[in-house]
Amino acid sequence: MGNPNDDLSRRKFVTRSLGCLAAASVAPGLSLADSSSTDPDKAATVPVMRKLGRTDIELPLVNAGAGAGMDPGLVIEAVDRGMRLFDTDARYQNGRHEQLLGSIFSKMGVRDKVVIMTKVHTPEQRAGLSPERSKALLYKTLEGCLRRLRTDRVDILLVHDVSSPGPIHDPAIMEAMSRIKAEGKARYIGTATHTNMAVAINATVAAEIYDVVFTAVNFTMADDTALMGAIENAAQKGVGVIAMKTQAGGYAFPNPATHREFSNELINSAALKWACHNENIATSVPGFANYDHLRANWAVALNPEYTEEEKRFLSDNRIKLGMEFCRQCRRCVASCPHKADVPTMMRTHMYVRQYADFGLARQTYDSIASDRGLTACESCGECTAQCAHSVNIRRKIEELKLVYG
Ligand code: SF4
Repeated sequence: MGNPNDDLSRRKFVTRSLGCLAAASVAPGLSLADSSSTDPDKAATVPVMRKLGRTDIELPLVNAGAGAGMDPGLVIEAVDRGMRLFDTDARYQNGRHEQLLGSIFSKMGVRDKVVIMTKVHTPEQRAGLSPERSKALLYKTLEGCLRRLRTDRVDILLVHDVSSPGPIHDPAIMEAMSRIKAEGKARYIGTATHTNMAVAINATVAAEIYDVVFTAVNFTMADDTALMGAIENAAQKGVGVIAMKTQAGGYAFPNPATHREFSNELINSAALKWACHNENIATSVPGFANYDHLRANWAVALNPEYTEEEKRFLSDNRIKLGMEFCRQCRRCVASCPHKADVPTMMRTHMYVRQYADFGLARQTYDSIASDRGLTACESCGECTAQCAHSVNIRRKIEELKLVYG
């Protein structure tokens, strides 16, 4: 999958989508309309749908990432257009993102039509809290999520930011997550990973209690056979795979050379389509900072077929490297004499430079010391030569310092 030359026709997508749409719930008055149509010629108004693993949830190929930020109008338009899965997190905007979604869904009367996915962090548990304290903290965090989201249950609850089997298989976390599901406070449970994804996905599947895995994946990782294999394994075992970071940081790309041949719009749609073409990925939640981004993303849900130019972009390896997307592989960490958390700094850079989400960036930057016991960078430059994925670490860190001093 992911080969731009695949002739994955619109008709094939549509045929699959129409079967799913029959079972999809549609809010009265919402524009996921036309779902009664079985005429492929009217396909442009119908999103392609896929089932989320073994859950009973069916979703459009493209949904709403938390990058929608704090603009209520964007969330409303996303619902109106037909996006159904909304990604959030107990920590985003210090809980205000959950509050925003809860308020809008309640006012629109669409709580039963949307799928809310939120995430809880467990760094305290990982730092060695007693199992009882760990579980109590997780329940308390979830209670806060439910209150802010104005609901008595979330649809998907994820343990966020896992990169190794440790926290995924932690008995206290597994027990708490299982109990939350059994009590109906989360319909489905899972994990979220943007570091060491192949290992985290395989561990999630092996745990056998998780229904969903939310992973970073995009076209710059097409040659990562371990990751592609893990995604396939998850899908085969019925664990629903949801993609994030589909546009390798998205909308504003840090390397100007990339733009000499291809526009931002083309890069974004080609990248999103690449994720959609992998049938092991049930859906994606790209963020959008404005209405143009939202509409462009939704257009992919309606028609994921590649244009000739998009195929040309995706088959250009030089451009792929020029994206300078940090895969969070953490190989550079060992080379740093100061034990700096370079990958987290690269993610912070992406949030500042590409998402323009300064709140998320600050939170991520601040997590360097508290979550991992690692330090910030001393600018010695040792690491740049160590990146196998052509990320200009030093330049990005210098840019970050302009923001954080
Ligand atoms: S900067 Fe390069 S080596 Fe370091 S985590 Fe990112 S991709 Fe891996």
